[in-house]
Amino acid sequence: MGNIILTGDRPTGRLHLGHYIGTLKNRVRMQNEGNYDEMYVMIADAQALTDNFDNPKKIQDNLHEVILDYLSVGIDPNKVNIFIQSEVDALTTLTYYYMNLVTVSRLQRNPTIKTEIKQRGFETSVPMGFLNYPVSQAADITAFKANLVPVGDDQLPLLEQTNEVVRTFNRIYGDTLVECEAILPESDIEKRLPGLDGNAKMSKSLNNCIYLADSSEEVHKKVMSMYTDPNHINVSDPGKVEGNMVFTYLDVFSNDEQIKKYSEFSSLDEMKEQYKKGGLGDVKIKKVLYEVLEELLTPFREKRKYYEEHMDEVDKILKEGTIKAKEKASKTLKEVKKAIGIDYFE
Ligand code: ATP
Ligand code: MG
Repeated sequence: MGNIILTGDRPTGRLHLGHYIGTLKNRVRMQNEGNYDEMYVMIADAQALTDNFDNPKKIQDNLHEVILDYLSVGIDPNKVNIFIQSEVDALTTLTYYYMNLVTVSRLQRNPTIKTEIKQRGFETSVPMGFLNYPVSQAADITAFKANLVPVGDDQLPLLEQTNEVVRTFNRIYGDTLVECEAILPESDIEKRLPGLDGNAKMSKSLNNCIYLADSSEEVHKKVMSMYTDPNHINVSDPGKVEGNMVFTYLDVFSNDEQIKKYSEFSSLDEMKEQYKKGGLGDVKIKKVLYEVLEELLTPFREKRKYYEEHMDEVDKILKEGTIKAKEKASKTLKEVKKAIGIDYFE
């Protein structure tokens, strides 16, 4: 059997540099390498409702932002089915059967869920739908028989939970579902890009992001206000590179050619040495980072602009992708019902 790739994002805001480096870049690479039979990218609106049920407008407003972000970074609708989760009813039905295979305490122990419950202030009373979203994510992945899932590392506990559902299901009802594997970026920083404020994760919910669709002015403003070394007050002071977000981002996003182009140094290492010794100001290093990010983001903005002016094309892409997703997920649901023995009229 060939590879089936599936991944997705919650339409809770525009996509940011963390999404790009953590997963979008890998998706585009895998899409272009072509080593797969089917590839799906899901806009997880139903999952986003589990912690935004009282603000559906936020989800509606961001659905198109997310697909515009996909198209702007080069996800190719001729190769990839982009679809809307809530349109695929089979996913909800699968979730219902999988819920029997997972205990509440196992969900409560899931490290990602634990962190997210804290972040959202759900400690005293967590909505059942939110606690259950790992099960619904297991449905999303298994409905497509996906074996490869390009994600950032906050998703690992969720994929582990999916594989537990697969093993339990197959043990009880017979071999039906397929286990999946995370496709992660190489370095630790890329697996979880920290926020502009130095927080462990750039995240829409934490408001510490550079968005892929930010204007040059916005990127400039955000880079200039980035967290560096709080003890590096005068240009002549020796500065710290570790934990300095500007250098962290330069490590991820720049190459030495760009360092040569935008500074007097011939490599990032040389630039770091100077910073550590003293005599290199924050404004200078921030300017270099700004230029490097602009090189990345300018082509994205241009592509985005094209699709913003052709929203009918975007809607057609979503409709066609969703039809294909529905077909595939319904087929799996039939197999699941047959395995359980509740396919009465077949
Ligand atoms: P929310 O705060 O609403 O959960 P989010 O920023 O965490 O939003 P998601 O839609 O939950 O974004 O995540 C989509 C994908 O992007 C996942 O694969 C996740 O691992 C990856 N991702 C999100 N933030 C980062 C990051 N800072 N670094 C690397 N990967 C990331
Ligand atoms: Mg998230």
